[in-house]
Amino acid sequence: MDIDPLARAVAQGDRRALARAITLIESGRDDHRAQAVALLEALKDTGREALRIGLSGTPGVGKSSFIEAFGLMLIARGLRVAVLAVDPSSARSGGSILGDKTRMEQLSRAPEAFIRPSPAQSQLGGVARRTRESVALCEAAGFDVVLIETVGVGQSETAVAEMSDLFALLLAPAGGDELQGVKRGIMEIADLILVNKADGALREAAVRTCADYAGALRLLRKRPEDPEDFPKALTVSAHTGDGLESAWTEMQALADWRRETGHFAARRAEQAAAWFAAEVREGLLARLTRDAETRARMEAMTARVRAGEVTPEGAAAEILAAL
Ligand code: GDP
Repeated sequence: MDIDPLARAVAQGDRRALARAITLIESGRDDHRAQAVALLEALKDTGREALRIGLSGTPGVGKSSFIEAFGLMLIARGLRVAVLAVDPSSARSGGSILGDKTRMEQLSRAPEAFIRPSPAQSQLGGVARRTRESVALCEAAGFDVVLIETVGVGQSETAVAEMSDLFALLLAPAGGDELQGVKRGIMEIADLILVNKADGALREAAVRTCADYAGALRLLRKRPEDPEDFPKALTVSAHTGDGLESAWTEMQALADWRRETGHFAARRAEQAAAWFAAEVREGLLARLTRDAETRARMEAMTARVRAGEVTPEGAAAEILAAL
Protein backbone atom coordinates (compact mmCIF):
# COMPACT_ATOMS: atom_id res chain seq x y z
CA MET A 1 0.00 0.00 0.00
CA ASP A 2 1.13 3.55 -0.75
CA ILE A 3 1.20 5.30 2.59
CA ASP A 4 1.25 8.90 1.29
CA PRO A 5 -2.42 9.25 0.25
CA LEU A 6 -3.51 7.78 3.58
CA ALA A 7 -1.21 10.13 5.48
CA ARG A 8 -2.57 13.09 3.54
CA ALA A 9 -6.18 12.11 4.17
CA VAL A 10 -5.52 11.65 7.89
CA ALA A 11 -3.81 15.05 8.03
CA GLN A 12 -6.91 16.55 6.40
CA GLY A 13 -8.98 15.23 9.27
CA ASP A 14 -10.81 12.60 7.22
CA ARG A 15 -12.40 10.32 9.83
CA ARG A 16 -12.70 7.31 7.52
CA ALA A 17 -9.01 7.57 6.71
CA LEU A 18 -8.24 7.88 10.40
CA ALA A 19 -10.26 4.74 11.12
CA ARG A 20 -8.38 2.88 8.38
CA ALA A 21 -5.06 4.14 9.69
CA ILE A 22 -5.89 2.86 13.17
CA THR A 23 -6.89 -0.50 11.74
CA LEU A 24 -3.49 -0.64 10.08
CA ILE A 25 -1.84 0.13 13.40
CA GLU A 26 -3.80 -2.58 15.17
CA SER A 27 -2.86 -5.23 12.63
CA GLY A 28 -0.50 -7.95 13.74
CA ARG A 29 0.96 -8.53 10.26
CA ASP A 30 4.60 -7.65 9.72
CA ASP A 31 4.02 -5.82 6.43
CA HIS A 32 1.23 -3.79 8.04
CA ARG A 33 3.54 -2.98 10.88
CA ALA A 34 6.12 -1.53 8.53
CA GLN A 35 3.40 0.59 6.89
CA ALA A 36 2.11 1.73 10.26
CA VAL A 37 5.60 2.85 11.25
CA ALA A 38 5.95 4.72 7.94
CA LEU A 39 2.57 6.36 8.50
CA LEU A 40 3.52 7.56 11.98
CA GLU A 41 6.78 8.92 10.58
CA ALA A 42 4.96 10.69 7.75
CA LEU A 43 2.56 12.34 10.20
CA LYS A 44 4.98 13.37 12.89
CA ASP A 45 5.49 16.93 11.67
CA THR A 46 1.93 18.22 11.35
CA GLY A 47 2.70 20.68 14.14
CA ARG A 48 -0.61 19.92 15.80
CA GLU A 49 -1.04 19.47 19.50
CA ALA A 50 -4.14 17.98 21.04
CA LEU A 51 -4.80 17.99 24.75
CA ARG A 52 -4.54 14.32 25.70
CA ILE A 53 -6.75 13.60 28.68
CA GLY A 54 -6.67 10.23 30.44
CA LEU A 55 -9.90 9.26 32.21
CA SER A 56 -10.36 6.33 34.52
CA GLY A 57 -13.15 5.01 36.68
CA THR A 58 -14.65 1.70 37.72
CA PRO A 59 -17.63 0.39 35.77
CA GLY A 60 -20.83 2.21 36.71
CA VAL A 61 -19.33 5.52 37.84
CA GLY A 62 -20.62 7.08 34.65
CA LYS A 63 -17.63 7.19 32.29
CA SER A 64 -19.62 6.86 29.09
CA SER A 65 -22.26 9.30 30.33
CA PHE A 66 -19.55 11.76 31.31
CA ILE A 67 -17.66 11.43 28.02
CA GLU A 68 -20.87 11.89 26.09
CA ALA A 69 -21.83 15.06 27.98
CA PHE A 70 -18.30 16.42 28.23
CA GLY A 71 -17.57 15.67 24.59
CA LEU A 72 -20.75 17.37 23.40
CA MET A 73 -19.89 20.41 25.52
CA LEU A 74 -16.43 20.62 23.94
CA ILE A 75 -17.93 20.29 20.47
CA ALA A 76 -20.36 23.09 21.25
CA ARG A 77 -17.28 25.19 21.95
CA GLY A 78 -15.99 24.47 18.47
CA LEU A 79 -13.52 21.74 19.40
CA ARG A 80 -13.03 18.36 17.74
CA VAL A 81 -12.97 15.43 20.13
CA ALA A 82 -11.55 11.93 19.76
CA VAL A 83 -12.29 9.16 22.25
CA LEU A 84 -10.05 6.09 22.56
CA ALA A 85 -10.00 3.32 25.10
CA VAL A 86 -7.53 1.08 26.85
CA ASP A 87 -9.45 -1.88 28.12
CA PRO A 88 -7.35 -4.81 29.30
CA SER A 89 -10.48 -6.84 29.96
CA SER A 90 -11.67 -6.74 26.35
CA ALA A 91 -9.49 -9.68 25.38
CA ARG A 92 -10.95 -11.85 28.11
CA SER A 93 -14.60 -10.91 27.82
CA GLY A 94 -14.61 -10.73 24.03
CA GLY A 95 -16.42 -7.43 24.28
CA SER A 96 -14.86 -4.10 24.99
CA ILE A 97 -15.65 -0.79 26.51
CA LEU A 98 -16.79 1.54 23.77
CA GLY A 99 -17.71 -1.51 21.74
CA ASP A 100 -21.33 -1.18 22.72
CA LYS A 101 -22.98 0.95 20.06
CA THR A 102 -25.47 2.45 22.47
CA ARG A 103 -22.77 4.18 24.45
CA MET A 104 -22.28 7.86 23.66
CA GLU A 105 -25.03 7.80 21.14
CA GLN A 106 -25.15 11.51 20.41
CA LEU A 107 -21.42 12.01 20.51
CA SER A 108 -20.81 9.15 18.12
CA ARG A 109 -23.09 10.79 15.58
CA ALA A 110 -21.39 14.18 15.77
CA PRO A 111 -19.16 14.91 12.77
CA GLU A 112 -16.70 16.65 15.11
CA ALA A 113 -16.20 13.48 17.13
CA PHE A 114 -14.28 10.28 16.53
CA ILE A 115 -14.85 7.27 18.78
CA ARG A 116 -12.80 4.11 18.65
CA PRO A 117 -13.24 1.04 20.86
CA SER A 118 -10.37 -0.61 22.64
CA PRO A 119 -8.36 -2.92 20.40
CA ALA A 120 -8.76 -6.58 21.33
CA GLN A 121 -5.40 -7.89 22.45
CA SER A 122 -4.37 -10.31 25.10
CA GLN A 123 -1.74 -8.13 26.71
CA LEU A 124 -2.19 -4.72 28.28
CA GLY A 125 1.17 -3.76 26.78
CA GLY A 126 -0.14 -4.49 23.29
CA VAL A 127 -3.38 -2.56 23.87
CA ALA A 128 -1.49 0.38 25.33
CA ARG A 129 0.96 0.46 22.45
CA ARG A 130 -1.79 0.50 19.82
CA THR A 131 -3.74 3.13 21.73
CA ARG A 132 -0.70 5.33 22.13
CA GLU A 133 -0.12 5.23 18.39
CA SER A 134 -3.80 5.95 17.77
CA VAL A 135 -3.50 9.02 19.99
CA ALA A 136 -0.71 10.29 17.75
CA LEU A 137 -2.88 9.73 14.67
CA CYS A 138 -5.87 11.56 16.19
CA GLU A 139 -3.57 14.44 17.01
CA ALA A 140 -2.23 14.51 13.45
CA ALA A 141 -5.83 14.45 12.20
CA GLY A 142 -6.42 17.74 13.97
CA PHE A 143 -8.47 16.67 16.96
CA ASP A 144 -8.21 19.26 19.70
CA VAL A 145 -8.93 16.92 22.58
CA VAL A 146 -8.16 13.22 22.78
CA LEU A 147 -9.89 11.46 25.65
CA ILE A 148 -8.35 8.13 26.59
CA GLU A 149 -10.69 6.08 28.69
CA THR A 150 -9.86 3.11 30.86
CA VAL A 151 -11.64 1.00 33.42
CA GLY A 152 -10.26 1.18 36.91
CA VAL A 153 -8.48 -2.13 37.04
CA GLY A 154 -4.87 -3.08 37.53
CA GLN A 155 -2.14 -1.37 35.60
CA SER A 156 -4.24 0.23 32.91
CA GLU A 157 -4.38 3.62 34.65
CA THR A 158 -0.63 3.86 34.66
CA ALA A 159 -0.51 2.93 30.99
CA VAL A 160 -3.06 5.62 30.18
CA ALA A 161 -1.39 8.25 32.37
CA GLU A 162 1.82 7.56 30.46
CA MET A 163 0.18 8.60 27.19
CA SER A 164 -1.77 11.56 28.58
CA ASP A 165 -1.01 15.17 29.34
CA LEU A 166 -3.55 15.16 32.16
CA PHE A 167 -5.17 12.38 34.10
CA ALA A 168 -8.66 12.53 35.60
CA LEU A 169 -10.25 9.99 37.90
CA LEU A 170 -14.03 9.69 37.83
CA LEU A 171 -15.77 8.55 41.01
CA ALA A 172 -19.31 8.07 42.17
CA PRO A 173 -20.64 9.42 45.48
CA ALA A 174 -19.78 7.11 48.36
CA GLY A 175 -22.42 5.98 50.79
CA GLY A 176 -20.36 6.17 53.95
CA ASP A 177 -17.08 7.71 54.89
CA GLU A 178 -14.89 5.19 53.06
CA LEU A 179 -12.63 6.35 50.26
CA GLN A 180 -14.06 3.70 47.94
CA GLY A 181 -10.90 1.66 48.10
CA VAL A 182 -9.22 3.89 45.56
CA LYS A 183 -5.62 2.83 45.48
CA ARG A 184 -3.06 5.31 46.59
CA GLY A 185 -1.15 4.84 43.34
CA ILE A 186 -4.15 6.00 41.34
CA MET A 187 -4.67 8.99 43.60
CA GLU A 188 -1.04 9.88 43.03
CA ILE A 189 -1.32 10.03 39.27
CA ALA A 190 -4.67 11.88 39.22
CA ASP A 191 -4.57 15.57 38.36
CA LEU A 192 -8.30 15.91 38.85
CA ILE A 193 -10.79 13.83 40.78
CA LEU A 194 -14.29 14.24 39.41
CA VAL A 195 -17.10 13.04 41.63
CA ASN A 196 -19.92 12.34 39.20
CA LYS A 197 -23.68 12.05 39.82
CA ALA A 198 -23.79 15.28 41.83
CA ASP A 199 -27.47 15.68 41.12
CA GLY A 200 -30.83 14.95 42.73
CA ALA A 201 -30.76 12.69 45.76
CA LEU A 202 -27.06 11.93 45.21
CA ARG A 203 -25.90 15.52 45.24
CA GLU A 204 -25.28 15.78 48.96
CA ALA A 205 -23.31 12.55 49.06
CA ALA A 206 -21.29 13.71 46.05
CA VAL A 207 -20.36 16.97 47.76
CA ARG A 208 -19.31 15.04 50.87
CA THR A 209 -17.31 12.54 48.86
CA CYS A 210 -15.64 15.38 47.01
CA ALA A 211 -14.62 17.02 50.30
CA ASP A 212 -13.21 13.71 51.55
CA TYR A 213 -11.09 13.34 48.45
CA ALA A 214 -9.98 16.94 48.51
CA GLY A 215 -8.73 16.22 52.03
CA ALA A 216 -7.01 13.03 50.96
CA LEU A 217 -5.33 14.81 48.05
CA ARG A 218 -3.90 17.41 50.39
CA LEU A 219 -2.16 14.65 52.32
CA LEU A 220 -0.39 13.32 49.25
CA ARG A 221 3.00 14.53 48.21
CA LYS A 222 2.78 17.88 46.47
CA ARG A 223 3.97 18.26 42.93
CA PRO A 224 6.28 21.24 42.98
CA GLU A 225 5.87 21.75 39.24
CA ASP A 226 2.09 22.24 39.45
CA PRO A 227 0.01 25.10 40.86
CA GLU A 228 -0.55 24.91 44.63
CA ASP A 229 -4.18 23.85 44.46
CA PHE A 230 -3.59 20.81 42.21
CA PRO A 231 -4.46 17.97 42.20
CA LYS A 232 -8.06 19.02 42.73
CA ALA A 233 -11.41 17.37 43.44
CA LEU A 234 -14.62 18.64 41.82
CA THR A 235 -18.22 17.51 41.62
CA VAL A 236 -19.83 16.99 38.21
CA SER A 237 -23.04 15.60 36.81
CA ALA A 238 -23.08 13.94 33.45
CA HIS A 239 -26.88 14.04 33.58
CA THR A 240 -27.44 17.75 34.35
CA GLY A 241 -24.14 19.01 32.93
CA ASP A 242 -23.27 20.72 36.21
CA GLY A 243 -19.56 21.12 36.74
CA LEU A 244 -18.53 20.12 33.24
CA GLU A 245 -17.51 23.65 32.32
CA SER A 246 -15.50 23.94 35.54
CA ALA A 247 -13.81 20.63 34.88
CA TRP A 248 -12.77 21.86 31.43
CA THR A 249 -11.59 25.20 32.84
CA GLU A 250 -9.44 23.40 35.40
CA MET A 251 -7.98 21.08 32.81
CA GLN A 252 -7.06 24.00 30.60
CA ALA A 253 -5.62 25.94 33.51
CA LEU A 254 -3.36 23.05 34.44
CA ALA A 255 -2.34 22.42 30.83
CA ASP A 256 -1.59 26.12 30.29
CA TRP A 257 0.46 26.27 33.46
CA ARG A 258 2.47 23.25 32.40
CA ARG A 259 2.98 24.69 28.94
CA GLU A 260 4.29 27.94 30.36
CA THR A 261 6.64 26.21 32.78
CA GLY A 262 7.88 23.80 30.15
CA HIS A 263 6.59 20.74 31.99
CA PHE A 264 4.09 19.94 29.29
CA ALA A 265 6.78 19.47 26.65
CA ALA A 266 9.10 17.83 29.17
CA ARG A 267 6.46 15.25 30.06
CA ARG A 268 5.90 14.42 26.40
CA ALA A 269 9.64 14.13 25.84
CA GLU A 270 9.88 11.73 28.79
CA GLN A 271 7.00 9.70 27.40
CA ALA A 272 8.59 9.53 23.97
CA ALA A 273 11.87 8.34 25.48
CA ALA A 274 10.07 5.67 27.51
CA TRP A 275 8.15 4.47 24.43
CA PHE A 276 11.33 4.23 22.43
CA ALA A 277 12.86 2.01 25.12
CA ALA A 278 9.66 -0.05 25.27
CA GLU A 279 9.58 -0.48 21.48
CA VAL A 280 13.16 -1.71 21.42
CA ARG A 281 12.45 -4.04 24.34
CA GLU A 282 9.31 -5.42 22.73
CA GLY A 283 10.98 -5.73 19.36
CA LEU A 284 13.80 -7.74 20.87
CA LEU A 285 11.37 -9.98 22.71
CA ALA A 286 9.36 -10.48 19.54
CA ARG A 287 12.50 -11.53 17.72
CA LEU A 288 13.25 -14.11 20.38
CA THR A 289 9.91 -15.76 19.81
CA ARG A 290 9.11 -15.06 16.15
CA ASP A 291 12.32 -15.41 14.20
CA ALA A 292 12.61 -19.16 13.51
CA GLU A 293 16.38 -19.28 13.72
CA THR A 294 16.51 -17.33 16.98
CA ARG A 295 13.73 -19.45 18.41
CA ALA A 296 15.58 -22.63 17.55
CA ARG A 297 18.71 -21.24 19.17
CA MET A 298 16.70 -20.31 22.27
CA GLU A 299 15.21 -23.80 22.49
CA ALA A 300 18.59 -25.47 22.09
CA MET A 301 20.07 -23.20 24.71
CA THR A 302 17.16 -23.80 27.09
CA ALA A 303 17.83 -27.55 26.81
CA ARG A 304 21.49 -27.02 27.65
CA VAL A 305 20.55 -24.84 30.63
CA ARG A 306 18.14 -27.50 31.86
CA ALA A 307 20.85 -30.18 31.51
CA GLY A 308 23.24 -28.04 33.53
CA GLU A 309 25.71 -27.82 30.67
CA VAL A 310 25.76 -24.05 30.79
CA THR A 311 24.77 -21.49 33.42
CA PRO A 312 21.63 -19.41 32.79
CA GLU A 313 23.83 -16.30 32.81
CA GLY A 314 26.29 -17.67 30.32
CA ALA A 315 23.50 -18.90 28.07
CA ALA A 316 21.77 -15.51 28.12
CA ALA A 317 25.01 -13.71 27.34
CA GLU A 318 25.59 -15.99 24.37
CA ILE A 319 22.08 -15.47 22.99
CA LEU A 320 22.30 -11.70 23.39
CA ALA A 321 25.69 -11.60 21.73
CA ALA A 322 24.25 -13.49 18.75
CA LEU A 323 21.43 -10.93 18.37
P1 GDP B 1 -19.64 3.54 33.01
O1 GDP B 1 -19.81 2.08 33.25
O2 GDP B 1 -18.60 4.12 33.91
O3 GDP B 1 -19.40 3.88 31.57
O4 GDP B 1 -21.01 4.24 33.46
P2 GDP B 1 -22.31 4.67 32.63
O5 GDP B 1 -22.07 5.97 31.93
O6 GDP B 1 -22.77 3.52 31.81
O7 GDP B 1 -23.31 4.96 33.80
C1 GDP B 1 -23.66 4.00 34.78
C2 GDP B 1 -24.98 4.38 35.42
O8 GDP B 1 -24.85 5.60 36.13
C3 GDP B 1 -26.09 4.58 34.41
O9 GDP B 1 -27.29 4.08 34.95
C4 GDP B 1 -26.18 6.08 34.27
O10 GDP B 1 -27.46 6.54 33.91
C5 GDP B 1 -25.80 6.55 35.66
N1 GDP B 1 -25.19 7.88 35.64
C6 GDP B 1 -24.16 8.28 34.86
N2 GDP B 1 -23.89 9.58 35.05
C7 GDP B 1 -24.79 10.02 35.97
C8 GDP B 1 -25.03 11.30 36.58
O11 GDP B 1 -24.37 12.32 36.32
N3 GDP B 1 -26.04 11.36 37.51
C9 GDP B 1 -26.78 10.27 37.85
N4 GDP B 1 -27.74 10.43 38.76
N5 GDP B 1 -26.58 9.05 37.28
C10 GDP B 1 -25.60 8.94 36.35
